[in-house]
Amino acid sequence: MAKKVNAEVTEQDKAEPKKISVEEITIKTGTRPSGRVDDMSASARLTDPAVAWRFLLAGNAIFSMVSGRTGVRYTFRLSRGKPRDGDDRPPPWFLSSLVGPSNTDDYAFIATAFAERVPGGGGERVQTVRAAKGVDPRDKRVLAVAWLIDRLRRGELPATVEFWSSGACGRCGRLLTTPESVERGIGPECWERMGC
Ligand SMILES: [Zn+2]
Repeated sequence: MAKKVNAEVTEQDKAEPKKISVEEITIKTGTRPSGRVDDMSASARLTDPAVAWRFLLAGNAIFSMVSGRTGVRYTFRLSRGKPRDGDDRPPPWFLSSLVGPSNTDDYAFIATAFAERVPGGGGERVQTVRAAKGVDPRDKRVLAVAWLIDRLRRGELPATVEFWSSGACGRCGRLLTTPESVERGIGPECWERMGC
């Protein structure tokens, strides 16, 4: 009997996706897509830096970067933290990298992006991308996203790197259905809430 229990536990462990940090789990917000974003049929290459920037920081963006030179592709999730009581600083974003077969679940936390408030009510400015504990600061994925953020905030999106939205809303994670939503990576309800 005890043996059987052990076997079950082992199976369960195997089935579990790579552990992501508690922090990453608690900041997942909004409605999860009902299905997996497997077919990527609604994914779109975003080429307008302003559109890409808004999508990227929307709070729950799943995106891919593809090197035009090598064809190497990385898929990420960038989830925004929640405001904390007594902390006036803008909440950070948590970057995780796809490490398994399920592009809704198999993410490992690799870095945090911090923002500062721009004095005089000028909004927020993403300042720093810091590798997570145990992740090499020179990790290619961390460097790639730091590079992307640096370019996009300056209004640039070099054609050497393809930037793809996943087909799920960058803010709430619902699957996008209309061409208009797909083009901007944001669903209609979130679009209104974001005041775009
Ligand atoms: Zn949405």
